[in-house]
Amino acid sequence: MADRFDIIVIGSGAGGGTLAHTLAPSGKRILLLERGDYLTKELGNWNPGEVFVDGKYISSDTWYDGDGTPFQPQSHYFVGGATKMYGAALYRLRPEDFGELRHVDGISPAWPLTYDEFEPWYTKAEWLYQVHGSHGEDPTEGHCSRQYPWPAVSHAPRIQQISDSLAQGGYHPFHAACGILLDEADRPESTCIRCAWCDGYPCMVHAKSDAEVIAVRPILDFPNVTLLRNAEVTRLQTDPSGRTVTGVVVDHGGDGMEEIYRADIVVLAAGAANTAKVLLSSASDAHPAGLANGSDQVGRNYIFHNSKAIAALGEQDNDTVYQKTLAINDFYLPGPGREWPLGGIQMLGKSNAGAMKGEEPHLTKLAPRWSLDEAAHHSVDFWLTTEDLPKPDNRVTVDNDGNVHLDYHNTNESEAASLYEEFRKMLNHVGLAKHHVLHKNFYMGMNLPIAAVAHQAGTARFGTDPATSVLDINCKAHEVDNLYVTDTSFMPSLGAVNPALTAIANAIRVGEHIADRLGVSIATGASAAPHGATAATQPRR
Ligand SMILES: Cc1cc2nc3c(=O)[nH]c(=O)nc-3n(C[C@H](O)[C@H](O)[C@H](O)COP(=O)(O)OP(=O)(O)OC[C@H]3O[C@@H](n4cnc5c(N)ncnc54)[C@H](O)[C@@H]3O)c2cc1C
Repeated sequence: MADRFDIIVIGSGAGGGTLAHTLAPSGKRILLLERGDYLTKELGNWNPGEVFVDGKYISSDTWYDGDGTPFQPQSHYFVGGATKMYGAALYRLRPEDFGELRHVDGISPAWPLTYDEFEPWYTKAEWLYQVHGSHGEDPTEGHCSRQYPWPAVSHAPRIQQISDSLAQGGYHPFHAACGILLDEADRPESTCIRCAWCDGYPCMVHAKSDAEVIAVRPILDFPNVTLLRNAEVTRLQTDPSGRTVTGVVVDHGGDGMEEIYRADIVVLAAGAANTAKVLLSSASDAHPAGLANGSDQVGRNYIFHNSKAIAALGEQDNDTVYQKTLAINDFYLPGPGREWPLGGIQMLGKSNAGAMKGEEPHLTKLAPRWSLDEAAHHSVDFWLTTEDLPKPDNRVTVDNDGNVHLDYHNTNESEAASLYEEFRKMLNHVGLAKHHVLHKNFYMGMNLPIAAVAHQAGTARFGTDPATSVLDINCKAHEVDNLYVTDTSFMPSLGAVNPALTAIANAIRVGEHIADRLGVSIATGASAAPHGATAATQPRR
């Protein structure tokens, strides 16, 4: 195998996979380095016990918290990255998220770009990832230059009932943005079977718009693209000036033998914590505090969401299978009687007895008359998200043995509590308030908040000032001429919507910039159906 390429991309998830997809038509020789392997299609994909109780698809990494206590982060190292497990709720940040927003615990900083400047890439991302939805329903949305490629996924009867009741109660429920390969008008050709195994599970039939299915597999036939799996990048080498990355050092196959690959452009997209790890592990005479870290910002400002997963148990059955079709942003921004932005409410994947197993003691204590099966049959499941603020002391560091330390304390706890109060009031309108509400600790490791790294971001933020940011506006490192970062690290703030669509949009944006820089043309693929797509995955708008 050659060791010299035009572009090396490190990580094949939302940021790296999408960037490689954007640049693949350029003809430039691209090496995609992925630490994990393909996630095997197997029955275990849809076995809640194996997925949630045994943690079958969670990495065996050990990280350490601020006190030095070891924990197992809920990281997923596969071709496609964390998107193999994600719920494919593909939302845009709201325009206010791109400006400065005051919160109870401080400031959510402004981005160096406005929403309107970023908007074209959101549209491209929605078309590339085949998103279903209905722009215009949610009053907090910004302008959208194009409608979603697919109509909103229809609500199951119980969810439609909840939506109607909320609307009657004066709320503004809207259809969720879902990245699934589903054609409701022409079911037989759909690859998605609208099962309950979307959120937190790998898709056994490859019908979820994850980065492997949408971005990576479609480019593997390109002669200029090479994917190297089981290839963990351990550090980056530079020339003596420190301005150019000259070598990407890889542990291939886990045997400790180093391989070195070279390219004109290197793009790091290993996920927010691992990107910081690679940069900090690449200290040299030119970059004594870590590569691109003259500002001491690498690894700082680690953010994820202040979230609650809740199963509300009512008298009424809930036969819904695919439940993630409804969302409410009525509390997203400050408003009458609300000084602070509180966040958003979405549906979660449907509870089932297998996944609830770990919760049995609580369930018995709180609701003795419910068996697990009964509880799951009656549950309506919600996900509450409040923004977490970037704080310099919430940071990733790496010790002398190469271990990741994550020192983190969450923010905006009182906003999260207020959102929960609003949520409880909201349940009055849907016949769920008089019954039991369970906190679903099994989802995304909520029982050990620091291990729930699903929405990690912010460790190498972009900005115009090299003293306070790691990357420039094109996500190129201020201090290195050929190094870019396109995972969620670049985000200066996280808003209160799921981060993947923003990472995807940004990767397309940076990919187009790199193509310009190299003087090559690309058909961005942003409006094209994935390579090899069936008729069902051709957009219907
Ligand atoms: C259970 C779950 C549910 C989620 N649900 C949603 C959702 O509904 N909507 C949403 O927007 N977001 C969701 N997310 C979050 C979303 O998946 C992430 O925000 C997104 O994948 C981040 O993209 P990324 O490129 O930063 O990182 P990733 O997608 O994780 O990609 C990083 C890649 O780099 C690889 N890598 C790491 N280190 C190295 C190294 N040293 N060398 C080589 N490769 C390396 C990893 O294996 C991985 O493939 C969810 C996540 C989880 C875990």
